[in-house]
Amino acid sequence: MKSGRTDVDVVVVGAGPNGLTAAARLAVAGRRVLVLEAASTIGGGSRTKPLADGAVYDVCAAVHPFGAASPAFAELDLAAHGVQWLHAPVALAHPFDDGDAAVLYRDLADTSAGLGHDAQRWDATVGHFARDWDRVRHLVLGPVARALVHHPLQMARFGMLAGLPAAAAVRLFRTREARALVAGLAAHSGVSLRQPATAGVALALAAAAHAVGMPVAAGGSQSIVDALVAVITANGGTIECDRHITSLSELPRAPITLLDVTPGQFADLAGLPAPRWKHGVAAWKIDMLVSAPMPWVATACASATTVHLGGEHAEVAQAEAETARGEVPGHPYVIVTQPSVVDASRAPAGHHVIWAYRHVPNGCTADTATAGIEAQFDRFAPGWRDLVVHRRVTTATDYAAYNPSYIGGDIAGGAMTPWQTVARPRLALDPYRTKVPGVWLCSQSTPPGPGVHGMSGWHAAGSVLSEKR
Ligand SMILES: Cc1cc2nc3c(=O)[nH]c(=O)nc-3n(C[C@H](O)[C@H](O)[C@H](O)COP(=O)(O)OP(=O)(O)OC[C@H]3O[C@@H](n4cnc5c(N)ncnc54)[C@H](O)[C@@H]3O)c2cc1C
Repeated sequence: MKSGRTDVDVVVVGAGPNGLTAAARLAVAGRRVLVLEAASTIGGGSRTKPLADGAVYDVCAAVHPFGAASPAFAELDLAAHGVQWLHAPVALAHPFDDGDAAVLYRDLADTSAGLGHDAQRWDATVGHFARDWDRVRHLVLGPVARALVHHPLQMARFGMLAGLPAAAAVRLFRTREARALVAGLAAHSGVSLRQPATAGVALALAAAAHAVGMPVAAGGSQSIVDALVAVITANGGTIECDRHITSLSELPRAPITLLDVTPGQFADLAGLPAPRWKHGVAAWKIDMLVSAPMPWVATACASATTVHLGGEHAEVAQAEAETARGEVPGHPYVIVTQPSVVDASRAPAGHHVIWAYRHVPNGCTADTATAGIEAQFDRFAPGWRDLVVHRRVTTATDYAAYNPSYIGGDIAGGAMTPWQTVARPRLALDPYRTKVPGVWLCSQSTPPGPGVHGMSGWHAAGSVLSEKR
């Protein structure tokens, strides 16, 4: 039975980027909103914390192509509440063993020019969707079913390429550079690159990178969620931390409840049977404060905010395939960010913060995962060990403990299998509404899926506002 306060219209469980975006949209629309967060601070996967010696690090998300592209963040005017996107000269570098690197610039022409024989092909594929980004972003930042119904032609065009396995999409290109960029971007999905629709992850990220860049947030990703809190409180909303909800019956009485949780957590909260929902690979991360720029062999890496380690496309694909099979490859694909390349506020003068994570099997406890990341640093930035001032390792188990939504360390709220990519958590024009009256899901387990863009929360709030009452 619901009890306690009766002065709210909406209760949101979870103060991650999506819960806060849902709360902000509803507060702006005049609803009295209360947000309840299990942790002692707000932010979910968008927190920034002290590392050492005045340096700060992003615990989870660091780079924000979809944040910069987010219609929700634009509509809520997060810039007016302090969010500032910072762009490095190089958006993404992907080094090879010979000291060269594939480079993705925000500028499409510069990128194409560096891709030799693939210049035209890159322009005709990625470039096409980047130029059409104002429309494409609505396809990639909302439910697939909605895009199919409302924009069938655009969706068909996008889907012909996006629906491919990345392992097939790389064969559209001839150069190792273009192939590595595609494989590295697709590998963000955390599934085998032989899986259908993994090309879509690469295509969406690359098109966004050209259209809006791959920026970091000035001061850290925390600034994004802090801005959302500012919108909520300016519109009369309230946020309470240290409120871990274990049943819907604990919630204050309110006609509307939004849950920034996974489908399994929702079932637990509602006392329903566990849903069919597959959790995916976990994250395993090293954060470091280093006393000088990383000694990358490939010079392009020095001015990049994101660096993909893993070598040529086949090696990246192999590492992700092995991880998907439950193995812990010794030479993993590693996503590195170095926000201090463009944001001096992150580290003491002359120092840098390095953020690097790999995928490991769900629930993995193998300490060799740390050595795998280090091995890739040894390979592409020999000498880095001499620069380390402070190092912090976050294991899959640590992530599972850090956030109740990271089941087994799965940071995506559910594996990006083909079915769970399009039916998240079900195939519907409105996948946010649950079968429990008055209860909506608003987390990354709903479309468009992982990322700090707030669009799951935005669409869920839109569904609430469209209710006839
Ligand atoms: C290592 C790592 C790197 C990443 N890198 C990027 C990146 O560079 N760019 C990017 O865009 N995204 C990145 N992400 C993904 C991004 O962080 C997530 O997709 C995003 O945070 C999802 O937002 P959310 O609101 O759906 O869920 P979350 O951020 O997980 O928030 C859910 C919130 O709900 C709370 N909660 C859960 N259960 C309960 C309960 N029962 N009671 C009360 N509160 C509850 C949790 O404590 C949490 O605060 C990364 C994530 C990780 C972990």
